[in-house]
Amino acid sequence: MSSIGAVCEIWNFTREDDVVAAPGVECWSGRFLFDVQDLQFDMNLYGRGLMSLKPDSKVRLYATLPHTRVLGPYLRFAIWVQGCGKKCPGCMTPDAASFDGGFLVKADELAERIVNSLEIEGVTISGGEPFDQVSALTNLIHAVRARRDLGVIVYTGYTLDYLMNRNDSGEIASFFSLIDLLIDGPYVRELDDGLSLRGSSNQAVYCLSGRYAGVADQIYGRPVRKVEIHILDNELFLAGIPGSDMLNTWKERKITG
Ligand code: SF4
Repeated sequence: MSSIGAVCEIWNFTREDDVVAAPGVECWSGRFLFDVQDLQFDMNLYGRGLMSLKPDSKVRLYATLPHTRVLGPYLRFAIWVQGCGKKCPGCMTPDAASFDGGFLVKADELAERIVNSLEIEGVTISGGEPFDQVSALTNLIHAVRARRDLGVIVYTGYTLDYLMNRNDSGEIASFFSLIDLLIDGPYVRELDDGLSLRGSSNQAVYCLSGRYAGVADQIYGRPVRKVEIHILDNELFLAGIPGSDMLNTWKERKITG
């Protein structure tokens, strides 16, 4: 794929195996080696970067859900982080926009909850904007992966190209090394085509490891959207990627109900 070349240039990125490509989905597979400034990363098929957990790291959250089947393959723990500056018209989670809202939780405490969530195959991180909390989320996933081999899916409102060119201290590269599947780009209401597991057609699905290469093309971009309704803190909570009609109906019923 073309963008992997850009990664190689920026981060002295070396891939030892072949790219895995599935229809409609771009997949990378294999063992990745790269340097970021003074840090060296050695990332295997499932993307384990070599860094240690900072114990005081905190994540600002909008919500969590211990079990869902509508945010990726298999049973997953879902995390919605708090804070996003994009203000996309039609955003499903406008209440997650404020960078002061939500609540703070220690990364190691959240990791404990994830690890103890039985039968999940992985974690999906959405928001809000996960890449505005890269350091804390990197610590979180390191703490999880130290104890369980869980897959990681991340939804970001930034494009992959933007993230690869963002000038930071190597934190994004470290976070990338832990992600198995990335869905990028903001929600664009005019491009909402109703296909599964992404909000609009500008959003692309990238397998950053081989973990979901065999299933990604079977579940992303399909002509069906699924949602779940949960009760969180005595309130109804909608999980998944709804169509715009479904979301409008949900908002109206929630306000009037
Ligand atoms: S990037 Fe995502 S969370 Fe942020 S405003 Fe847009 S749709 Fe909402």
